[in-house]
Amino acid sequence: MTLTAPLADIGFTLRAIAGFDEGRFGDVPLEAILGEAGRYAADVLAPLNRIGDREGVRLHDGDVTTPPGWREAYRQFAEGGWSGVSAPEEHGGQSLPVMVEMAVQELWNWGNAAFAVGPMLTAGAIEALTAHGSAELKAAYLPHLVSGRYTGTMNLTEPQAGSDLGLITTRAVRSGDGAYRISGEKIFITYGEHDLAENIVHLVLARLPDAPDGTAGISLFLVPKVLPGEGGGGARNRVRAARIEHKLGLHGSPTCTMVYDDAVGFLVGEENRGLACMFTMMNLARLSVGIQGVGVAERAWQGALAYARERRQGRVPGTAGPSPIVAHPDVQMMLMRMASLVAASRALCYACAHAIDMSRLAPAGEREQWADRAGLLTPVAKAYSTDAAIEVASLGIQVHGGAGYIEETGAAQHLRDARLFAIYEGTNGIQAIDLVARKLQLRDGAAVNAVTAELDGIADGLGMSRRLDLQTLQAPIAKAAAELGAATAYITAAYQSERRAALLGAGAYLRIFAMTFAAGLLAKGALAAGDDRVGSAAIAKAVFFAQTMLPDVSSLRAAIAGSAAAVGAETTAWLCGD
Ligand SMILES: Cc1cc2nc3c(=O)[nH]c(=O)nc-3n(C[C@H](O)[C@H](O)[C@H](O)COP(=O)(O)OP(=O)(O)OC[C@H]3O[C@@H](n4cnc5c(N)ncnc54)[C@H](O)[C@@H]3O)c2cc1C
Repeated sequence: MTLTAPLADIGFTLRAIAGFDEGRFGDVPLEAILGEAGRYAADVLAPLNRIGDREGVRLHDGDVTTPPGWREAYRQFAEGGWSGVSAPEEHGGQSLPVMVEMAVQELWNWGNAAFAVGPMLTAGAIEALTAHGSAELKAAYLPHLVSGRYTGTMNLTEPQAGSDLGLITTRAVRSGDGAYRISGEKIFITYGEHDLAENIVHLVLARLPDAPDGTAGISLFLVPKVLPGEGGGGARNRVRAARIEHKLGLHGSPTCTMVYDDAVGFLVGEENRGLACMFTMMNLARLSVGIQGVGVAERAWQGALAYARERRQGRVPGTAGPSPIVAHPDVQMMLMRMASLVAASRALCYACAHAIDMSRLAPAGEREQWADRAGLLTPVAKAYSTDAAIEVASLGIQVHGGAGYIEETGAAQHLRDARLFAIYEGTNGIQAIDLVARKLQLRDGAAVNAVTAELDGIADGLGMSRRLDLQTLQAPIAKAAAELGAATAYITAAYQSERRAALLGAGAYLRIFAMTFAAGLLAKGALAAGDDRVGSAAIAKAVFFAQTMLPDVSSLRAAIAGSAAAVGAETTAWLCGD
């Protein structure tokens, strides 16, 4: 099967939907960058995707061996300068917009998600160090992370502390020389150990002896695998991989238990302010996980479409049979749903990336408003795109029929890989809580109100379109925007007066938000689309999404109201076994 890097769709989404503007972003040669990234993803990463899934990773005496081909692929990745796409130029990076960083990450994930998650964490580590590291730490580590000589990890999770980071017990003590000693066990650490780079920079959350309880007493430390030394190569630090996990998917990505046994660490930011620093990394990582969903979903969709064009079963009336299954209405519905989910997720993720860029590049007086928009869209983009990826990958299996359930077609791997995305970087349940409990309150609701106003503007534009199929989208989008406004008012009020009701409805509310805004963004793209293949497909997806998927918003709103009545005190007692 021939796979095609989705360069045209990414370019269209960046420009026609998300607001990418070459002039504002400093004359970025977008097509050249995407073209180069697409070649690397298609020629180097994509052929290793199945190999990584089949061979997995191995742990021996604390060393982790990555799948065959991984080391050479990483060498090319580093040589291509891809580790420092959005890193500051002063540290050797290219200072490109986050929109471009996300576009290339989509391509890495489309090629090979298990490989891509490593560089994704390095990009997050670069972001956190750039924002919070001391001048010495930046000088010692950023150039090597940016060049790809070192990779980065994120160490939050402990056996008793997953979603609840207040329970972290890893200890840090001041060692008197300005450094710290770190001891404890971290689990599920992605690329915690590997054979791709000469050093690994662990960003570790730990607690000082005199720290307050809970999240207010957590500090962030940089713990290198190899300590600084004469000429660069120092002694091994006291950190090692004690175990790797056997897991459902992403077999090519090592998931390690890391043991810190009096390891030397360096404070990042201020003592007891570690969670805020780590959130710099996590916010970008959350968007990156949304993008992982888009990349894997795109690949699953391409595989399903190619199969549906080849496989012949049944006969479509009026034709000589057997027909390719792509001609059957039910298969067309599945394929259009897949394509529309991919497009909707992509639109949300790049709109979020655009807001992040604008929070840095807009005139000073507007930056806060863009930062709030980025904060609002991050949980929405992460949760919706990853749920969508699971649905797309599952539909991809369905389109393949029995062959999809058999590993040879590769359709099953996409579902196994994508399943993780809804879990890590904050489960999708935690994203919904973040949206309802924190993000809706930003500037007294101004951030969310700006989104509904934007939707009203798009609906007006549709009403004035000369295309009948776009004109008919005005009503469903205006209706969904009104439902979103009403749902926002209900959830915001409930969060103040009846918190449990708001939390019961949080998941459904996030979907209403995501679907309505995505429908608006797709319609905005359709209004700007030309009559080339990409433009026609964009219109088809916008129409399909608004006409067949957006009506779910009404039932989701009813479900929000219903859940408070449905899951009351008695049900709680039953579930809790009281
Ligand atoms: C393959 C893999 C790679 C990973 N990579 C990393 C990594 O590199 N670094 C790292 O630090 N961690 C990593 N993780 C850990 C991951 O981030 C956690 O698994 C995730 O945050 C969830 O924590 P948990 O597994 O402890 O689940 P729990 O927190 O126990 O959650 C279980 C369920 O309860 C729900 N829940 C929990 N608390 C609440 C609440 N307050 N309100 C409502 N619902 C709640 C959750 O949504 C979830 O559905 C990885 C995990 C995996 C599986």
